[in-house]
Amino acid sequence: MKITAIGTGNAFSAKNFNACFLLEDTDSAGVEHRLLLDCGQQVLPALRLLGIDIESITEIYISHAHSDHIGSLEAIGFMHYDWMNKPKEATERGDSRQSPVLIANKNLMHELWEWSLKGGMACIEGLDAELSTYFRLMPVPPNKQFEWCGWSCSLIQQVHIMTGSVILNTFGLMLEKPGKPAIYFTTDSQHCSPRQIELFYRKADIVFQDCECLPFLSGVHANYAQLAGHPDTNSVVLNTSIRNKMWLTHYQDFVSEGKKVISTLSGMEFYGKSGTQSGMIDFDWDAQAAKDGFRGFLKVGQVIQVD
Ligand SMILES: [Zn+2]
Ligand SMILES: [Zn+2]
Repeated sequence: MKITAIGTGNAFSAKNFNACFLLEDTDSAGVEHRLLLDCGQQVLPALRLLGIDIESITEIYISHAHSDHIGSLEAIGFMHYDWMNKPKEATERGDSRQSPVLIANKNLMHELWEWSLKGGMACIEGLDAELSTYFRLMPVPPNKQFEWCGWSCSLIQQVHIMTGSVILNTFGLMLEKPGKPAIYFTTDSQHCSPRQIELFYRKADIVFQDCECLPFLSGVHANYAQLAGHPDTNSVVLNTSIRNKMWLTHYQDFVSEGKKVISTLSGMEFYGKSGTQSGMIDFDWDAQAAKDGFRGFLKVGQVIQVD
């Protein structure tokens, strides 16, 4: 399988697009599949820059309903909607305007439409549309796997922003196939309780880990200092063997620009640089990641071949 980092930033970065991946493999019938793992609002220009045809996407997996993971679904849905021939249903493979299969946890799929997409997509030229008008749907029941190109794909609940008292429907993805390395995409994780996902960290051979590089904990994503086990972060220290598996997907443009934010706001000292004022300093993140035992920071367009 070929994995391409479509973007390793998020809605808050100008250059790094969204934390989305392209997975390419062939099924048992020899048909090539291209699965988009999350579909953030800048996926379309990101794919274009990498020379990847959006029409070639066969499946879209959605981890959770934040905009930087679903922001392009409306555009892709309208792009594939068959105005002339099949106004009530997503088109099948083989049609010139085939609709991708949309894969998500069953409850998330419902919320995706009711909370996010319905307002912009429910009414088109007098037709009451459903999500199934635009996409072929594959809702995955809780605690069930789906199969993709011979890979068994498990949805791993992550702790992510809470609404009131309820943890969002947020699911990373673990891919397993006999004779192949197991791959774990955390998507967005808060890392606040790494013990709960340690089982999956151990099971995986390769981990694609979200990683903010701010000098404070946003509470939305895992933070570099936590993952690296910095003593000030009050975090469970990950075993070195786990860090060795991790490709980090950073969320800020300043990382790829070789900069680091220093701040006295949190009162924390980061890697020996306790700034006296907020600002930017030069910083070699790749060198730091190597020193801390990570595989490294993913770059936009980087390809990881999994054999
Ligand atoms: Zn999120
Ligand atoms: Zn996100």
